Amino acid sequence: MKILADYHTHTIFTHGTGSIEDNVRVAVERGLKEIAITEHSFRHLAHGINRKKFFEIKAEIERLRAIYPIKILLGLEANLISDKGDIDVPSDILDQLDIIVLGYHKLFYTSIKQFFTFLLPNTFRPFRASRKRIEKNTLAYERAIAKYPVKILAHLGYANCTVDCKRLAEFAAKHDVLVELNGKGTYFSHNDICDMLSTDVKFVADSDAHRAKDVGISTPAACIMLRYDIPSIRVVNIDELQDIGLNKDRIDN
Ligand SMILES: [Zn+2]
Ligand SMILES: [Zn+2]
Repeated sequence: MKILADYHTHTIFTHGTGSIEDNVRVAVERGLKEIAITEHSFRHLAHGINRKKFFEIKAEIERLRAIYPIKILLGLEANLISDKGDIDVPSDILDQLDIIVLGYHKLFYTSIKQFFTFLLPNTFRPFRASRKRIEKNTLAYERAIAKYPVKILAHLGYANCTVDCKRLAEFAAKHDVLVELNGKGTYFSHNDICDMLSTDVKFVADSDAHRAKDVGISTPAACIMLRYDIPSIRVVNIDELQDIGLNKDRIDN
């Protein structure tokens, strides 16, 4: 079981510990064919990037593309910031991205209304999510997928943002969006995984590396695949690299 592309990695531009070049170097050493740099987007409370950093990242990726024999994608880990499906990537930045990974995080800047109706009832919810809350969260993801060119749903269920995995997987499959098996942890229940496997959705195994040495490794993904006997054809970057519909003209060296 070998990861051939890692579409979710962080660097010192937010709170990772390695440089972009460190991540790329490890990816090349491990035989990956593609790596994405996906820093936390603009409204992440503690670690969001700013415009200056974004353009530094872009320039560095362009420099490294000329040096290393690997596809390097300019991405962002966008935040889901409202129940209307808003994400925190300005439209002029959206146009420059090769890939968008979308995640719900514990704290993010949003409107006062969304703070009380979306962030607070998820992140700081002391009890299990109600049916209504799950529907609201699922709809928020669906709206984001409908509005933006999201490619990967990162760590679903993280930070208490519980969703209806079956419904969201069906929706994602229809829109060619992948469900991530995240390298830092899994927040799926047994039923969530069984439900998603009953749909046509495809998965992607990502490291979510915050250290270069973790690039290209996703132990939780390997465990889930083994435990649930998931064939590598269901996971787009294992053993064989599947076409996930990225803009090839832009990323081909
Ligand atoms: Zn994340
Ligand atoms: Zn991440």
